[in-house]
Amino acid sequence: METPISSSERLKGKTALLSGAASGIGLASAWRFAEEGAKIAVSDIAAKKGRELVAALNDNGYDAFFFELDVVDAKSWEGAVAETVGRWGKLDILLNSAGIGRVYPLLDMTLEEWRRTMAVNLDGTFLGTQAAIRSMKDTGGGSIVNISSVMGMVGAPNISAYCASKGGVRLFTKAAALECAALGLDIRINSVHPGYIETPMVMRRFENIDDSDAAMTELTTKHPIGRLGQKEEVASLILYLASDESRFTTGSEFVIDGGYTAR
Ligand code: NAD
Repeated sequence: METPISSSERLKGKTALLSGAASGIGLASAWRFAEEGAKIAVSDIAAKKGRELVAALNDNGYDAFFFELDVVDAKSWEGAVAETVGRWGKLDILLNSAGIGRVYPLLDMTLEEWRRTMAVNLDGTFLGTQAAIRSMKDTGGGSIVNISSVMGMVGAPNISAYCASKGGVRLFTKAAALECAALGLDIRINSVHPGYIETPMVMRRFENIDDSDAAMTELTTKHPIGRLGQKEEVASLILYLASDESRFTTGSEFVIDGGYTAR
């Protein structure tokens, strides 16, 4: 579904670092931020796709660069923030979008699989948030947006590690927001909780199952609106939280789920 969106430079003069920006929600947010006037630091472990995105952004006249960043690596985060500030003088916006959503039945899951999910989704969000705050506190503040999930609010079978990691992101966000406020820092931190969105993370699940149509119908009916979400719809909410329009908002959770959690 294409919704025409006209730019009104809602992020004019801002700089943004995005993790997991080579795909899905991160990618849609990179375009949306750029269209609204921000300079964009694209980061991901998927270097080829990240570089292709930056080339496309540059071709469209936007100021962007790529930084290969594994979110579990604290040194990489320091490097990405330093590169952003080195180029543009400050970091205003961090979007923590990198994540993995693997299905592991509880009784079969290894400790290694559990830890990997926690590392990417929760440790990665902590490390990015910490690196950004260390920089933002000296350059006039900023906005940090952490992508959690409806699975950080309600449970579901076979994804207990994912639910635990996203529930962790939800409360980490609130605690970090309160700490910034208590320190008198002009840094806001909020979490976004999407329902199922048509991105590679979700669509991959239907690749190797026998009746993918039935599985898709079952998933769709969990959303009272009657369809899955689009990454551009999530990017619109993220844009609001990244911009100064949300300046009275911190430590809050923003659900965008087609009604998934309403019943
Ligand atoms: P996606 O798979 O399309 O994109 C995720 C990106 O993260 C990929 O480019 C991948 O390379 C990157 N990534 C994975 N591990 C990384 C690491 N260690 N370091 C750096 N980058 C890494 O998925 P998406 O649907 O766009 O998901 C984005 C975020 O939204 C995730 O945090 C996901 O959990 C969350 N989310 C997605 C949905 C959904 O339905 N798609 C719903 C709720 C929440």
